[in-house]
Amino acid sequence: MNPFSYARPETVDEALRLGSQPGARYIGGGTNLLDLVKAGVEQPQFLVDVSRLPLAEVAALPDGGLRLGAMISNTDAANHPLVRERYPLLAQALLSGASGQLRNMATVGGNLLQRTRCHYFYDTGFPACNKRKPGSGCGARDGINRIHAILGASEQCIAVHPSDMCVALAALEAVVVVRDTTGERRIPIADFHCLPGNTPQIDTTLAPGELVVAVDLPPSPYAAHACYLKVRDRASFAFALVSVAAALELSGNTVRSARLALGGVAHKPWRVPAAEQALAGRPLTALSAASAARLLLAGAQPFEHNAFKVGLAERAVVRALQVANRPPGGSP
Ligand SMILES: Cc1cc2nc3c(=O)[nH]c(=O)nc-3n(C[C@H](O)[C@H](O)[C@H](O)COP(=O)(O)OP(=O)(O)OC[C@H]3O[C@@H](n4cnc5c(N)ncnc54)[C@H](O)[C@@H]3O)c2cc1C
Repeated sequence: MNPFSYARPETVDEALRLGSQPGARYIGGGTNLLDLVKAGVEQPQFLVDVSRLPLAEVAALPDGGLRLGAMISNTDAANHPLVRERYPLLAQALLSGASGQLRNMATVGGNLLQRTRCHYFYDTGFPACNKRKPGSGCGARDGINRIHAILGASEQCIAVHPSDMCVALAALEAVVVVRDTTGERRIPIADFHCLPGNTPQIDTTLAPGELVVAVDLPPSPYAAHACYLKVRDRASFAFALVSVAAALELSGNTVRSARLALGGVAHKPWRVPAAEQALAGRPLTALSAASAARLLLAGAQPFEHNAFKVGLAERAVVRALQVANRPPGGSP
């Protein structure tokens, strides 16, 4: 592990000043970054610990939405009464991630910026990983690619984004609030994570030195009918092979609007507006759910070991929509 210096600022302004220095990196709960530093994948020269900044509030917004401070832990976010009441989809997604101990440490800001779990990215003994070492190749394309992308991949990288929280945030159309020393900017979640293209080393549109300070959730009509379904190798403490955030706004038994996002299939949470629009204006049926699932997976290009993800994702979408369609409090 490389030596690095460390500071724990008390104010956001001080954090931004320190974070704008060359070689600086913010550290939240440290549950991802420290593993990457220990493995030699990341070599920050200066860690700016933002975990004690006064950014751990959940606050109701005047428009009926909710602001989650970036330093709130995944546990506290999932258990907050307003999150549970207004955004149960987000609470479910958060609680499906990692383990209790990790969720106690992990922050909302860090969860947004956690890096892929691609084995070739983590293994510094393996020479080919364009994300870790641009221009070195992609070991996963012709290697063991069971956990990798089936959508939006590139010649350079087929890694997936591993977060559960971000899949729910995508369906809820959250906005990431970021600051640097010059001011604040708001990034819709759909524009926050990048597809790999020719620059797989870049995961997000966050600029160097920018600090995530909050996530804003718009008012949501989806509280009563939402389901986060995660399919994984073990019942807990495992990343998603495939996950689905499904949310329905119902009028009687007619779907007024729907939101669908997939996790575990691409370098960012995957949404296809046509799939959501296809569900609107009619009751949800097995046929309409299956047809939305096909639209969501349109263009999927699996690799040698992950073709199973296409059918798995389609079935998971149908199941999540059916669960979301049940009356509130109905049996699972
Ligand atoms: C064994 C294990 C299992 C896991 N399983 C799951 C799972 O099933 N589902 C899931 O979603 N996640 C899972 N995780 C990942 C976990 O959710 C992340 O490690 C965690 O959310 C990262 O948050 P953190 O605060 O610890 O981030 P850190 O490790 O502190 O930081 C992560 C990244 O974010 C940057 N960063 C942190 N805060 C900010 C900020 N405010 N502004 C700008 N940059 C910032 C850091 O520089 C770093 O690049 C697992 C992790 C482990 C170790």
